[in-house]
Amino acid sequence: MAKLKKLEDYREEIDQCVKCGACRAHCPAFGAVKHEGRVARGKIALADALLKGDVEMEDRFLLDMSQCLLCGSCCAQCPNKVPTEDIVAATRLKIAEEKGLSTFGKGVATVLKHQGLLDVLAKSGGKLSNLLFKALPENSGMKLRFPAPFITADRTLPPVASKPFRDRHPEFIKGDAGQPTVLFFTGCGINYMYPDSGDAMLKALKFIGVNIIIPKDQNCCGLPAVSAGAAETVETLAEKNLAALSKHQYDYIVTACASCNAGLGKIYPEMGDEFVDYESKVKDIFVFLVEQGFAEKLDELPKSEVQKRVTYHDPCHLRTRGITKEPRQILKALPQVDFVEMEDAGTCCGLGGTYSVYHYDTSKEIVAKKANFIKESGAELVATDCPGCIMQLQDGINHADGQQRALHILDLVAEALPG
Ligand code: SF4
Ligand code: SF4
Repeated sequence: MAKLKKLEDYREEIDQCVKCGACRAHCPAFGAVKHEGRVARGKIALADALLKGDVEMEDRFLLDMSQCLLCGSCCAQCPNKVPTEDIVAATRLKIAEEKGLSTFGKGVATVLKHQGLLDVLAKSGGKLSNLLFKALPENSGMKLRFPAPFITADRTLPPVASKPFRDRHPEFIKGDAGQPTVLFFTGCGINYMYPDSGDAMLKALKFIGVNIIIPKDQNCCGLPAVSAGAAETVETLAEKNLAALSKHQYDYIVTACASCNAGLGKIYPEMGDEFVDYESKVKDIFVFLVEQGFAEKLDELPKSEVQKRVTYHDPCHLRTRGITKEPRQILKALPQVDFVEMEDAGTCCGLGGTYSVYHYDTSKEIVAKKANFIKESGAELVATDCPGCIMQLQDGINHADGQQRALHILDLVAEALPG
């Protein structure tokens, strides 16, 4: 039985916070609103007080715990590597256990637990796209025509695919003899919102000749439910995915979504021995491609006459797992890309799962800084490795009246490959 870690399991880590405050300067939520409850030190003190029974789960407490992006920037700077994002996530689970899920949390839990319902909603959204959304200029996304619960009207959204990625392709795609077999865990973002990036990933995988499995009955990884505090949903999804993936023989599970990578590669292995294999088998697509010598193959392609200036945004769920080099390595090797680093490429974009739903104003402030760094870099494109970040970055750029486009690195990879 898959079981998420509880707040009580973090007793030792909580005690390791020495209240030095080194995390303050690196917390995007604290940067936007200077309040101690926003920063790691304050949240750890609250979690500690909760465990000791010194604080009630009253409104102020709930607000402080909701004001965390789970971005891990604090942990990276912390002398004792206190995992604040895990402690906050565990506190949210405890809150939900005792007080029940919020209305939004209930919605997330219901939709994610029933893949069929998610499928129907997404397909209806795709079919009714023209009715529900208005397109923004120059292909920079869509906005809702009518107000909807939890989505403000000024938010840029990607169009919902009229045909999800997993419906576009067979479950098995044969590669060259002697090549490894990879299982593509698509995640919801690629399946429903960015299926072309999934197609681009297939093009890259076919280029190197690997065998590909795209399990039809895979589910959401459950990360949005972690952020919402919906423990039972996360555990159910982990078990469903284990059952769906275990039907196949594969060498690696590849992801093109930072959140799925962290869900399967970090959170699942903490949930039970049955997931231990995932720690080594789950690979981000760019880590996998680099290991397969893909960057060298790209170097052999003729340089394009027209160069695109591209910068890179590090998704938190890859940065905190130490995956920063490989996406850049692939970008730099692309024949049409003139790569440029932006300032603070590793800071959170402000999405943070449920954070941007509950605190959209602060979320916009955080991404506004990012949009400015993108502009200052001189890049026309900001590439990344996470559908959620693409959506948030484009929203921030549009709010700043920027001309840049956010996209998946895979879209640029597919553009560079022949055929
Ligand atoms: S979380 Fe780490 S950096 Fe922040 S106050 Fe505690 S020990 Fe210091
Ligand atoms: S995880 Fe991110 S938002 Fe939360 S306290 Fe740490 S730095 Fe701040």
